[in-house]
Amino acid sequence: MPTISKENYLKTIYQRAQTSNEPVTTSYVASKLEVSNAATSEMAKKLSDDGLISHEKYKGIELTDNGREIALQIIRRHRLWELFLIKVLGLSWGEVHDEAEMLEHSTSELLINTIDDYLGNPKFDPHGSPIPDRFGNLPVTPAIIALTKCRTGKKYRIAKVNDKSSELMNYFSRLGLELEKEIVIEDRLEFDNSITLSIDNRIHSLSEKICENVYVYSN
Ligand SMILES: [Zn+2]
Repeated sequence: MPTISKENYLKTIYQRAQTSNEPVTTSYVASKLEVSNAATSEMAKKLSDDGLISHEKYKGIELTDNGREIALQIIRRHRLWELFLIKVLGLSWGEVHDEAEMLEHSTSELLINTIDDYLGNPKFDPHGSPIPDRFGNLPVTPAIIALTKCRTGKKYRIAKVNDKSSELMNYFSRLGLELEKEIVIEDRLEFDNSITLSIDNRIHSLSEKICENVYVYSN
């Protein structure tokens, strides 16, 4: 059984709290990190003793200020590495996430701050997610909505994609779906919530599951 990384544990809690209002449970963390419930509960106790999380039955797991600070630093390393790997080393959209998952745990503050300066202190990663600065502050983010919420007949610009699957990233690349690209929602099939849209004047039909991973600027 893989050992649980404390850093991934904190990051998972942070990211879950960002995207869902439901309490973060140990079973959620266990399924995300692909470890047993027992190991996850044990780690929760350790992190709670270290003052990094609080764990109450009905509120679930929450990060303390110290825990949040660590989570934001890991996310900062991850997102800066992704940008560096694309911009400087020429890796593709689909390749960088898995590399960044490893690099985020072995990068000193000096190195990541140097990369940050080298890239000109960017505010967003290559998938459109905000990069925390060295003090853990997040940039102001524009209002975005999921592609699933878009209206037929309207034009939108791509603001953000979820980066977890390299297969999906490669698919987006083949479609020409990239950040800032203008799209038009042509049709929506209520039967399965699939969306037909045009990118570069070419029509594509995307399933609901794919659309859930794409966000556009809301205006
Ligand atoms: Zn990533």
